Amino acid sequence: MPIKTIIEPFRIKSVEPIRWTTREQRLQLLRQAHYNLFLLPAVDVLIDLLTDSGTGAMSTHQWAAVMEGDESYAGSRSFERFRASIQDVFGYRHVIPTHQGRAAERILFGVTCKKGDVVPNNTHFDTTRANVEFAGAEAVDLVIPEGRQPALAHPFKGNMDVAALENLIDRVGRDRIPLAMLTVTNNSGGGQPVSMENVRHVGKVCRRHGIPLYFDAARFAENAWFIKVREEGYSDKTPKEIAQEMFSLGDGCTMSAKKDGLANIGGFLCTNNDRLAQQEKDLLILTEGYPTYGGLAGRDLEAIAVGIQEALEEDYLRYRISSTAYLGDHIAAQGVPIVQPPGGHAIYLDARAFLPHLPVEQFPGAALAAELYLEGGVRSVEIGSLMFGPAAQMELVRLAIPRRVYTQSHIDYLVEVILEVWRNRERIRGLRLTYEAPFLRHFTARLEPVD
Ligand SMILES: *Cc1c(COP(=O)(O)O)cnc(C)c1O
Repeated sequence: MPIKTIIEPFRIKSVEPIRWTTREQRLQLLRQAHYNLFLLPAVDVLIDLLTDSGTGAMSTHQWAAVMEGDESYAGSRSFERFRASIQDVFGYRHVIPTHQGRAAERILFGVTCKKGDVVPNNTHFDTTRANVEFAGAEAVDLVIPEGRQPALAHPFKGNMDVAALENLIDRVGRDRIPLAMLTVTNNSGGGQPVSMENVRHVGKVCRRHGIPLYFDAARFAENAWFIKVREEGYSDKTPKEIAQEMFSLGDGCTMSAKKDGLANIGGFLCTNNDRLAQQEKDLLILTEGYPTYGGLAGRDLEAIAVGIQEALEEDYLRYRISSTAYLGDHIAAQGVPIVQPPGGHAIYLDARAFLPHLPVEQFPGAALAAELYLEGGVRSVEIGSLMFGPAAQMELVRLAIPRRVYTQSHIDYLVEVILEVWRNRERIRGLRLTYEAPFLRHFTARLEPVD
C-alpha cells in the first residue's frame, strides 16, 4: 500500500502551549484590535500564519551549536563556522554577516547604486524595493506575464522575462544598471520558484553586458527543491548540488537567514568582488558591527551555520513543500480560490474571488483575514488594498507557514477553518478605515465593519 500521510521528519522534544479562546472572546479581541490582526496580542492567536520569517523551530543540532557560540568581538570561531557553511553552499569569496536581510540590502545598494540607476528583479520584495529607492535608484519588476495571473498554473512562475530584461538594458543603457537581481523563490509573487534554465539565461544576458547578477536568496532551499521535482535533468541531484549550481551562475547574494537559514534572526551579504567587499565591510562597521559578527551574537552565527545545511535536507524539504501544497490543494478542491500552484512557504487566498460581493473599497482581504481569526483563531495577513492602497493589483490573504512549527493535524484544522469560512462567505461584511498612518498604514490601521 502506498503511504499517503505526510509525517513530520522530526520528533518533538520541547513544546510550547497554544491557547484556545471562545468565539465571543475573539470577537471582543478583534474589536479591541480594530479588526487589524497586527494589533492582536500573539498569546490570543491559536495558529499564527502572519509570517514565516524568524518564526521557525530550531533543531537539537542548532541548539547544541548555540552553546558553542564564541562571543569574541573579532575573529570568533563561530564566524569561521558560519563562513565555511555558507561558502560550502553559496561558493562566494566574501561572506558578510548582517542582523537581517534588509541590512544586507541597504549595504549592497548603498555601495552599488546612485541616483538615476535602475535595478531589475523578477519581483522586488518590499524591503528590497524600499532599499533600492532609498539609494536613489529605480526598482523594476520583470517577472514573466504568467507570474501576474493568480489562477494560472505554471511550474516556474517566478521566472524573469528575459526579453524584457534585454529591452530594459537597451532602453536605459548598461551604465545605469549597477546590478540585476533574482529573488528565489519569488516571495511577493506568491512564493513561486525560478528555474535553473531561467537563471542561466538571465546570467548570460547579464554577463554579455557586464552586469553583476545577485540573488535575493531568502528561500533558496525551497527553490532548489522545486527545480529538483519540476525541471528536467535535476531529479537525481541533491538540493545542495542544485543550490551550488544556481549560485555559481551569479556574483553574490543578499540573504535573510530568518527564512531558509532556519534561524530566528540574522542574514548575510556575499560577493566575489574584492573592492565591493571592502566598501561593504566599511559600511558594516558603521551601523552593524565588526565584519566577523555584523550585529549578530556568536550563537546566532552558529544557529545559521547549522540551519543553512538542514534547510537543504531532502526529508525536510519534501515534508515542507508537500505540507504547504496539501493545505492549498485541499481547500482548492472545494472551490476556494488560491494563487496557483501552491508556493513553497505560503498559500495565498484570492480575496476578490472569495468575496465577490465586497467592493475593493471595503477591503475584502482584511475582511477575510478577520473572519479567519473569528472562526478559528488563525492569524494571516492581508496583501492588497490595505497594504498597498489603490496601487494594489490583487487582493490576497497570505497564510505563511512557519518552518517545523505546526504538525499535520494543525494543517487539517486550518483546512476545516478555511472551508467553514468559505461555506459562510456570503455573510462576511466589508470593513472601513477609521484611522490610517501616512505610510505603511497596514501595520497600525484601525477598521470597523460596514453595516
Ligand atoms: C524577508 C525577506 C527579505 C528581508 O529580510 P529581513 O530578514 O526580513 O530583513 C528580503 N527579501 C525576501 C525575498 C524576503 O523574503
